[in-house]
Amino acid sequence: MAVQLALVTGAAGFLGSHLCDRLLEDGFQVVGVDNLSTGKMENIAHLEHEPRFLFEQVDITRPFDVGRVDYVFNFASPASPVEYLRLGIETLQVGSTGTFNTLEIARKYGAGYLHASTSECYGDPLVHPQVESYWGNVNPVGPRSVYDEAKRFSEAAVTAYCRYYGVNTHLVRIFNTYGPRLHPGDGRLISNFMMQALRGEPLTIYGDGSQTRSLCYCTDLIDGILRLSRSEIHDPVNIGNPEEWTVLQCAREVQAVAGKAMGATSSSELVFKPLPQDDPTRRRPDITRARNLLGWAPTISLREGLERSLTYFLTCLNEEKAKA
Ligand code: UDP
Repeated sequence: MAVQLALVTGAAGFLGSHLCDRLLEDGFQVVGVDNLSTGKMENIAHLEHEPRFLFEQVDITRPFDVGRVDYVFNFASPASPVEYLRLGIETLQVGSTGTFNTLEIARKYGAGYLHASTSECYGDPLVHPQVESYWGNVNPVGPRSVYDEAKRFSEAAVTAYCRYYGVNTHLVRIFNTYGPRLHPGDGRLISNFMMQALRGEPLTIYGDGSQTRSLCYCTDLIDGILRLSRSEIHDPVNIGNPEEWTVLQCAREVQAVAGKAMGATSSSELVFKPLPQDDPTRRRPDITRARNLLGWAPTISLREGLERSLTYFLTCLNEEKAKA
């Protein structure tokens, strides 16, 4: 079979870079694009001498063309609350114009298309756990709307390209994911907690820490995404780990893993901060669809995933110390 060509947008991001790695492992030739607004070249530095990988700095909100491709993976967007709140307009633009531009590429070359959507489509969910048929509870004018509505709009655009133009599209609703290459300063739960615990600082709990998240290790998530890309499913599919944790429980897990690494049995304290507006109170994927249609389920527990991420966060800590 001829080598498959994949375009990955957001290639220098956390998930985009892991996706590039996996596609290369699977024998693809990959063109990665990123405007580096939140992505980091360090995430793909190891691919510099990989002959099957090409990087181009591209802003996908402007029409672009990298030549014929067989598959488009659209992963470009600020994704952590801190980043999308800072880059609100850009987030709306990439999730609207950017999505159209990438859909046009898929349409032009008859390529497959997979869009990275999000559990934020469910907003602060009134249905629990979240099934794909739930339409969500999103504040269209709240601070998070720049991300949530951009992603919801993208889902509509992607579905329309399937419905009107027959593009072979796929929508993955990604739940909280973590692992190496999560930016240490992106303000997320795991990156904040890991860095704070390794620095011996108190962990910042927003609200009372009773809100829940379900955390998936990055390689599990990428595996689910690859399966979806090869399927005939055009409806959204949740990919995430259905194990649900309160933020407080996550803090304890991180403290246990980081504490062991730092040679301490008990670790840093907790400090309570205000809960951000519209912070979802609970989140857990119903993955029945992924299990039944893709034969997919996560394999890595939170404890194991945190242990696998430790070396990376220790490197971030050392870099931080070297800069200080
Ligand atoms: N959170 C927290 N302390 C932190 C960072 C996050 O308590 O230092 C909470 C946050 O309020 C939310 C959850 O952890 O309830 C997950 O936040 P994250 O920013 O990772 O992403 P979200 O799931 O909200 O998009």
